[in-house]
Amino acid sequence: MQDSIFLKIIRREIPATIEFEDDEVIAIHDINPVAPIHILIIPKKLIPTANDIQPEDAPLVGKMFLVAKQIAAAKGLSERGYRLVMNVGKDGGQTVYHIHLHLIGGKALPFATA
Ligand code: 5GP
Repeated sequence: MQDSIFLKIIRREIPATIEFEDDEVIAIHDINPVAPIHILIIPKKLIPTANDIQPEDAPLVGKMFLVAKQIAAAKGLSERGYRLVMNVGKDGGQTVYHIHLHLIGGKALPFATA
């Protein structure tokens, strides 16, 4: 059975600062924030990478964006803007193989392709 650091957080085996949780999604503060607000939106279902997303996962992946939008609004970021990022695989810089959206904001972010 596959496991991930995020499943350990979901099972409360590793502590994390939880911003939101329901039966499908959890959102936690990134342990190594790159901006004043850096939150990870994670499905409780282990999907290793975006390459593994199946058609039946579409509602779950859509929900990740809705949760991100709600958190951004709660943090006062809606108007000023923020970034949502999903890294995919080695060249994409993915380090945790359990898909997650990075919600990054609270400062002006330089455009970056790499
Ligand atoms: P990736 O590189 O896969 O796109 O992003 C993984 C993110 O997970 C990184 O930003 C990293 O700081 C964060 N991270 C890794 N381990 C932990 C952890 O144990 N707790 C929390 N809260 N974040 C983690």
